[in-house]
Amino acid sequence: MKSKFQFHRPADYREACELKQRLGKGAVYWSGGTDLMGEWQSGEKDIEHCIDITRIGLNYLKMKDSSVHIGATLTLDELASATAEYREIKLLSETAKKMATPQVRTIATVGGNICNGLPSADLAAPFMALNTDIVTTSGTHKIEDFYNDVRNNVNDASNNVNDVRNDVNDVKNDVLGEDDLALEFVIPLSERCACSYKKSVRSTVGVALAGAAVFIQVDDKGIVSDVRIALSSVAPVPVIVRQAGQFLTGIRISEINDSILQESAEMVVSDIRPITDLRGSKEFRRYATVMLTKSALSEAVFDLQKRDK
Ligand SMILES: Cc1cc2nc3c(=O)[nH]c(=O)nc-3n(C[C@H](O)[C@H](O)[C@H](O)COP(=O)(O)OP(=O)(O)OC[C@H]3O[C@@H](n4cnc5c(N)ncnc54)[C@H](O)[C@@H]3O)c2cc1C
Repeated sequence: MKSKFQFHRPADYREACELKQRLGKGAVYWSGGTDLMGEWQSGEKDIEHCIDITRIGLNYLKMKDSSVHIGATLTLDELASATAEYREIKLLSETAKKMATPQVRTIATVGGNICNGLPSADLAAPFMALNTDIVTTSGTHKIEDFYNDVRNNVNDASNNVNDVRNDVNDVKNDVLGEDDLALEFVIPLSERCACSYKKSVRSTVGVALAGAAVFIQVDDKGIVSDVRIALSSVAPVPVIVRQAGQFLTGIRISEINDSILQESAEMVVSDIRPITDLRGSKEFRRYATVMLTKSALSEAVFDLQKRDK
């Protein structure tokens, strides 16, 4: 039988943390509840206390010191509309619009998507490509370090999405800390950049079989100065791949053509460890990742080439 739980509504994040510490292991932070509800209903998670964090003032998007600050409880719907106007981070808007269903997007939050720690979390790769910091009650971490710490602890022998997820969730507590609360995500705004996110899904609603997020920046002479490519669903945690980006760095943006993009995209294969599960085979995931990376790179390059003319 499913456990009953008590619902708590703290006024601010300090009270939320105090509650979590006092109530112990049976207590969870409850944001949109779209992941937690499924886990509770299936009996996967025994919840005694829900600490509602949706009314503690973390529902915002604001500009500060050339960075965008996104509160952890901003919903996917709010993220989609609030980021649409910023060219530098419009991939967040595009990503959020492609997630879940319209109903789920009105309650599911940015923080819940990242803190659940799934390799398929749609916002993870875009955040990594955008060089995002995650600010938690214990400090500020680069989002890729957050995942690196998880990856170092994940059992490599795992060959099943559920096993991977359980491992990631177990380790997530070590990284976030038992009572640690994510407060906000901070994205530096860059000039002369373009970004894109592409994902492959089996049906309209569902987690990504594979996803590729790309950020490209050029200098004032039109030379590619920085490329960040992040992939989801093709390793135990979302990953940043370096080699493909380094290959493009130093090339004049106007000279990048289809064969250069293909060569760069094919390099990502050596950095991923896709698995076979109910949704797709590892061979398909490998193939899809190259295609998605190339497509995301093409979109970003095309955007920069248009502006370079
Ligand atoms: C029908 C459906 C479709 C979906 N489609 C997608 C999809 O396309 N792509 C995708 O990526 N996901 C999808 N999801 C999964 C889910 O909706 C998202 O991951 C969502 O963003 C989770 O946010 P939430 O606020 O509901 O998290 P919750 O369920 O509230 O929390 C998830 C976990 O994170 C912890 N947590 C939440 N906020 C914080 C915080 N601030 N600090 C510390 N810990 C925190 C919670 O304790 C819990 O362990 C789907 C879910 C459903 C039901």
